Amino acid sequence: MQIQGYTDTPVIPGSTWTVHDPRRPQPTIVRPGLPGGVPSDAIVLFDGKSLDNWEGNDGRANWKVENGYAEVAPGSGNIRSKMQHGDGQIHLEFASPSLVRGSGQGRGNSGVFLQGIYEIQILDGFENPVYADGITGAIYGQFPPLVNACREPGEWQSYDIVWRGPVFEGNRVLRPAMVTVLHNGIVIHHAQELQGETRHKELASYTPHGPTGPLVLQDHGDLVRFRNIWYRPIQF
Ligand code: MG
Repeated sequence: MQIQGYTDTPVIPGSTWTVHDPRRPQPTIVRPGLPGGVPSDAIVLFDGKSLDNWEGNDGRANWKVENGYAEVAPGSGNIRSKMQHGDGQIHLEFASPSLVRGSGQGRGNSGVFLQGIYEIQILDGFENPVYADGITGAIYGQFPPLVNACREPGEWQSYDIVWRGPVFEGNRVLRPAMVTVLHNGIVIHHAQELQGETRHKELASYTPHGPTGPLVLQDHGDLVRFRNIWYRPIQF
């Protein structure tokens, strides 16, 4: 197919392409799927049917799976994806218990750990005052979300996370981790650089590690539910 374009135009700085160059490669086609669906190039980590792609402390991921979701089995521990993820886009949906119990950090607490290390907080943060760097969507202990976009307890919510992991050279941080997060479609972090590993009551710092790690979901003792978890690797 003949592509319309121009080659008698200036070369765009930093590229070999002219402005409107018809020879410039086309973007890869991705079918986005229906709302709530999965893009055609995504790796599905949890489809609502089984946790076969996940493991727990004693090997198996022992969280409950029913009605298209997985639910934390309190006391059984965190679960982690068998797949190691690196840079890319992660989508997940979660719901805190509709029956509100507890308060503050004790209400609908869970979390998603990028590369198994860096926690984006999951909490029932709907009309639940708590320290800002620990509310829903916080980069735990470092950066509160730009806004509180929480839905009411029991309602399904989404995170879309664009993750660029840190790069190390020996013990040195060559490039810190960077994350953009949308909560229920609303931007809550934009290209935020992380100060290091997310920690409780301590300052963050980096410990060098490789370019990939598992996606980890936290058992914090609350009956938080998950569904529709997928990952799209991207080279930034
Ligand atoms: Mg948590």
